[in-house]
Parts: sequence; C-alpha cells; structure tokens
Amino acid sequence: MIRILDEFIADKIAAGEVIERPLSIVKELIENSIDAGSSQIVIEIKNGGKSYIRVTDNGSGIVSDEIELAFERHATGKISKLSDLDHINTLGFRGEALASITAISRLTVYSKTADSELGTKLKMQGGTTVSIEKTGMNTGTTMVVEDVFYNTPARRKFMKSDAAEATVIIDMIQKIAIYYSHIAFRLINNKQTVIATPGTGDILTTIQSIYPSYRELIEIHGDYVHGFISDPGSTKSNKRGQIFFVNGRYISSSTIEKGIIKGYGDRIFSGHPICILFIEVNPETIDVNIHPNKKEVRFDDEVAVSSAVCEAVIHALASSQAMSEPKDSIAMLADKKITTPEADFKASQKELKGR
Ligand code: ADP
Ligand code: MG
Repeated sequence: MIRILDEFIADKIAAGEVIERPLSIVKELIENSIDAGSSQIVIEIKNGGKSYIRVTDNGSGIVSDEIELAFERHATGKISKLSDLDHINTLGFRGEALASITAISRLTVYSKTADSELGTKLKMQGGTTVSIEKTGMNTGTTMVVEDVFYNTPARRKFMKSDAAEATVIIDMIQKIAIYYSHIAFRLINNKQTVIATPGTGDILTTIQSIYPSYRELIEIHGDYVHGFISDPGSTKSNKRGQIFFVNGRYISSSTIEKGIIKGYGDRIFSGHPICILFIEVNPETIDVNIHPNKKEVRFDDEVAVSSAVCEAVIHALASSQAMSEPKDSIAMLADKKITTPEADFKASQKELKGR
C-alpha cells in the first residue's frame, strides 16, 4: 500500500534527496524495480541518459488507483515510522524519487499488476499529469524519462558529456548487476547492449558476463566476508577490479583494502588484485553516509573487518595453491613472468595474426 509519510519523517528524509544527473534517475528507477521483486530489468539510455532513460521490469507493478499517488512527494509503500529508517530492507525509502524525477523531466509510466487485466499509462510533465489511460501490457512497470532538466537550464549545464554520463551509469549498473545476480539485467546504451547478465544467481558467471577478462577467480569465504579474488599473478594496473559491497551497498573502504594488501602480502609483485567482496555486518556497527553520492563506510571495529578480510584472502590463496600445486610449479619453472588476463588475451591475438 502506498501512503503519504508524516511531515516530520518526510522532512528528515528530504534533506538527502537530489536528482543531480541522469545517473541518480537510473539508480532510483532500478532500485524501485528491485524492490518490486523483479527477476528481469532492462535499462535503455540515449545520450548518456540526458534525452532518454527507460527502465522496464517484470515486478509487482503499481495498482492503477495508486499510480498518480506514487508520484506525489513523500509517497511510499515502504516506510511509515522513523525507527524503520534504521532497519530498512528495501533500497528506496524516501518516497521522494519519483516526485523529484517527474518534476524535472517528461515522464511516462506504464504499469500493470498481476490481478489486473489492463495496465495504466500515465504521462507527466514537470510534475503534473498530462494524460492517463488504460493500456494492454505484461505485468510489471516501464518508466520512460525524457529530456532531463528540460525545465531547469541551470542544472542542465552541469551535466557532463554524453559519454561521461553514460560511463558512470554503466559502471553503476555493473555493480548492481553483480550484487543482484539473481536478477537478469540488460543495459542498452545508444542501441547497443553493453551489459547482459544471466540472472541465475550464480555470482561468478555474473561477474564474468560483465567482466569477461576476469577469468579463473578464486572463491573466498571467511567471517562475514565472501566473494571472488584473483591469484597473486593476475593483477590489474588500477583498483577497478576491487569491488566491495557492505550489507548490499557498493562502497569504497580503506579498511577493506588494508585487509587485502595484508592478505596477499609479498605474493604481489606489482599491481592490484581483483577482489569482489561481499561483507555482511551488523548494521548497527557501521556508519554509512546516506547521501546518494557518498560511498564511504566507517566500521566501528576496523581492525576486526580488516583482519577478517586478510584471513579470508590468506586461506583462499592457500587452498587454491594446494589444489593446483603441480601445474603451478611446472609453469613457474618454465616461465617466471607475471601474466594477466589482458596480457594472455593480447598474446593469443598475436598468435592468431601470426598464422
Ligand atoms: P520509494 O521507493 O522511496 O518508496 P519512490 O518515489 O521511488 O519512493 O516510489 C514511490 C512508490 O511507487 C514506491 O514506494 C512503490 O510503491 C511505487 N513504485 C515505484 N516504482 C515501482 C516499480 N517499478 N514497480 C512497482 N512499484 C513501484
Ligand atoms: Mg524508490
């Protein structure tokens, strides 16, 4: 059920909410699709999302009587008491996103619930309804957002180039798709599919569908940490392969990085290992700045988290070495140079050309 939040809670929440760029819109729409229990989410963007963003899901849909309500400020189906804020399970909880998005764009929503025969198509512009009608469609929701900031030229100027806006969107969806590996994501950027995940729930195949060069990752398990890491010989020149989720949130953390560096120790000659880590801790022991762009997390017990990561890395490397000892030692004798998936790939390309 969608309710209007009480004024006090609404004000508390409102402070954090801003639509800064197409990225924020895409994020909010995807979060709503996830919250709606979707197993498939298709996102299409054009011009870095400035001219066109479409998010289609096969989730619960919005009942047609409530569809206009969903676009009112502080309308949410997800929270009613302030104490819920600390224990919120869903991603969206501010009841502000749709209202904020529709205020600064031309938005069309198509939505149908399972027990309704027809869906509803609602067109809005600058926050007001243009038209509403019945439409035949599958269960789920499609949101089309066009001409972001069309009515606020000052903010339009702050957007970066199409390519730059697209890059941050692609990057964000890559992370969301890894975390929600049970959801099949597809992202189409300027008519080209740039992300397509299987949605099977298998984390490794999801990672590899997004980053095909991340081959032969080692599974890691430890106290409140699990994930996949590369062997010490397969490092990258930057830290882009280090992706951390804490309680479902994609964050950066020097504490986790410290644990990784310690765990690999002097096994790393150069570069940064790939480490895709999922960390679950008691939410009361972390401080997450809930500003949408702040991605830092602070742990109450930094030493405990960093050692848990360190030990999990040590353990995973030890057991993977034990399993592949004979092959490795022969390879080490034959060829001492450090290889990376990219170097391997380039080498194999040269081989092909040479023939
Ligand atoms: P919030 O997500 O914080 O509740 P939003 O403004 O993002 O607020 O959305 C308002 C409400 O509209 C949601 O609580 C939900 O009930 C409904 N809604 C939005 N998007 C979807 C969707 N894709 N599928 C089903 N319901 C949706
Ligand atoms: Mg939301």
